[in-house]
Amino acid sequence: MNAVMPNYGYPTISFERGEGAYLFDTDGHRYLDFAAGIAVNSLGHSHPALVSALKGQAERLWHVSNLYAIPDQVRMAERLCSLSFADAIFFCNSGTEAMEGAVKAARRFHAHNGCPEKWRAITLEGSFHGRTLAMLAASKNPKHLDGFGDPADGFDIVPVHNMNALRDAITPETAAIVAEPIQGEGGLRPLSEDYLRDMRAVADEFGLLLVFDEVQTGFGRTGKLFAHEWTSVTPDVMACAKGIAGGFPCGAVLATDPVASSMTAGSHGSTFGGNPLAMAVANANLDVLTADSFLDDVVRSGEALQAGLRGVADRHPDIICDIRGKGLMVGMVVAAPFTNSQLGDAARDVDLLTVVAGENVLRMLPPLIIGEEEIVQAVDAIEQACQALASSSDA
Ligand SMILES: *Cc1c(COP(=O)(O)O)cnc(C)c1O
Repeated sequence: MNAVMPNYGYPTISFERGEGAYLFDTDGHRYLDFAAGIAVNSLGHSHPALVSALKGQAERLWHVSNLYAIPDQVRMAERLCSLSFADAIFFCNSGTEAMEGAVKAARRFHAHNGCPEKWRAITLEGSFHGRTLAMLAASKNPKHLDGFGDPADGFDIVPVHNMNALRDAITPETAAIVAEPIQGEGGLRPLSEDYLRDMRAVADEFGLLLVFDEVQTGFGRTGKLFAHEWTSVTPDVMACAKGIAGGFPCGAVLATDPVASSMTAGSHGSTFGGNPLAMAVANANLDVLTADSFLDDVVRSGEALQAGLRGVADRHPDIICDIRGKGLMVGMVVAAPFTNSQLGDAARDVDLLTVVAGENVLRMLPPLIIGEEEIVQAVDAIEQACQALASSSDA
């Protein structure tokens, strides 16, 4: 059999190098990359600041483990605390690991405060929190659970935008409410500000922690450093990963003081988490994201992209029936009988890379550094893809 496990299927395209928003395959063919490694390569490919940070660190020190202090980890943590609601940070290597850490911190907080019976989390239908056994149980996506036995206990799932269901799910064992401010994999579904505010109020009323999964929405993707900044709602705990280090594997759990204080010495850990290589790149990535006007440009680019795509949707309402999302996290809702993969394949045929999501949505998650020219090019590619689909269905 093929030496790589078949869980990703067997992709046929492979790339040799990347430059900014472009990827080049092994035949030298150029693609416009509006997938960015699934919202990871925020600064595009081969960004000079990241390349130089990684090279410089690689020549000095790669890994020491958390048995030793890592100055760049302390620096990254202090910067994130000053840029967010958080008082302390735990670093790990991926989104699902960050979510595991976030839920563990929420459980630990209650145990530490004399309520060990509070350990369950209320989670939302249509969510995606990763692929570990616990996070599969948190999202309860039947496709992802198939063949992996009974989902782990500790998660009570409720429909979104339904406060009665959420209130009904609260028991004396509830520790936390968990939500993505914009559901990514589930189909680019933004949760309304009212709903998030009600969630915060209910959490405060019952002494629960509010945990946000900003693995996909964080680090500038929506035009704010964190998506919840678009609202008046602040979580107690937050998981980040994807765009945090521009493509170097890294994740983080951000928490307020009372939660972080319960994670006493020995309570949690990660061998690789926050190692010198990851932290050098994460700090360099953060330098760029926090530079003057960078996020304003993301907002502007997002508006231009969405406006362009709305134009395409207006011309092809039988193929694209809605455009939704925030900043450079944009979803095109594909109208049945067309499918998101058909539209994605047609876009790839005209050299534009996108990503599918749930609810028949095709996602655009371009590098945050894209300019007007790339936006025009991408919108034009989607127009061509729609024309190709329209003429194939006429035939
Ligand atoms: C991608 C994603 C995860 C899982 O991240 P991995 O790095 O693949 O483990 C979790 N939550 C959200 C919202 C995501 O988009």
